[in-house]
Amino acid sequence: MDDLLKKLLDSAGVSGYEKEVSNIMYKELKKVSDEVFVDNLGSIIAKKGDGKKKIMLCAHMDEVGLVVKHINKEGYINFIKVGGIDDRILIGKEVIIKSKKGDVLGIIGAKAPHLQKEEEAKKLPKYEDMFIDIGVKTKQDALGKIEIGDSIVFNCRAGVLNDDLYFGKAVDDRVGCYVLLKVMEKLKVDAQIFAVSSVQEEVGLKGARTAAFKIAPEFAIIIDTTTAGDTPQVKETDSCWKLGEGVAITLIEAAGRGIIVNEKVKEMFISVARKNKIKFQVGILEGGMTDAAIVYMTREGIPAGVLSVPARYIHSPFGVFSIKDVEATISLTIKTIEHIIKENLF
Ligand SMILES: [Zn+2]
Repeated sequence: MDDLLKKLLDSAGVSGYEKEVSNIMYKELKKVSDEVFVDNLGSIIAKKGDGKKKIMLCAHMDEVGLVVKHINKEGYINFIKVGGIDDRILIGKEVIIKSKKGDVLGIIGAKAPHLQKEEEAKKLPKYEDMFIDIGVKTKQDALGKIEIGDSIVFNCRAGVLNDDLYFGKAVDDRVGCYVLLKVMEKLKVDAQIFAVSSVQEEVGLKGARTAAFKIAPEFAIIIDTTTAGDTPQVKETDSCWKLGEGVAITLIEAAGRGIIVNEKVKEMFISVARKNKIKFQVGILEGGMTDAAIVYMTREGIPAGVLSVPARYIHSPFGVFSIKDVEATISLTIKTIEHIIKENLF
């Protein structure tokens, strides 16, 4: 696995606490752009080129996670969830509390099955009933290591599952951040290309809103991940995306509550992909949306599209994706921008 991709997947960045991943993105964007700055919300905006047209690329750098809410007198920690996390995946996981004093290891605990009454055992576990054990005996001891408001991420490392299939934490959307960097590195066009590494996407598409307002581009491409449906228990009608089948071109998000991609944008993506022999898949989502949902409604409306990398087990400690789909997403993003500039579209 590419070192940069691994570094992005392994770094911490719960929504509102993006500092660690943001430092990486700032440094990497500096290498491939003419100028880089951080906006008031914390999103990183990089600019390359000085042609007439302004094109915005956007991938969010925040990830879903937890935040310390309360510490009891025995030193056990209660937490809130930031972003959409299934409570059932939490029990027994190793986590890292990102404290000012350094990383603190913890285990998410709950009542053992042996101690549960029959009725209790039938119920789905709720995050409110779980706690984090950092191995201390008192609240005072805990406060010597952490404080209320510290962010918490899963403790896991990215790697290769098999062949072209990779796994890692925060696949959504560090894979998009990686695409963003590769596109900025390779792209050479006579235009102003803005790469945005947005904050707080998982909690309301916030960073992309202020960044799009500031840039006011003529066109925007949002690069994200999307939920693959090629696993047991998922019906083909629930999700059409498959790993290894190419870049995902979304037409509608969240049954129309997210972006409804303009016909012209849809046709453009498809024709550019066909012409350049880039593997792609087209789909409609009933749930889930991306930064595109807010970017296309910014100012007087900004024409926009979404290109995604399908991923399994999204928003869990380990997402699985195909590096081939990542490469297809990089290619289609570059070819689409070249096409827009050449044909003077938007
Ligand atoms: Zn995402």
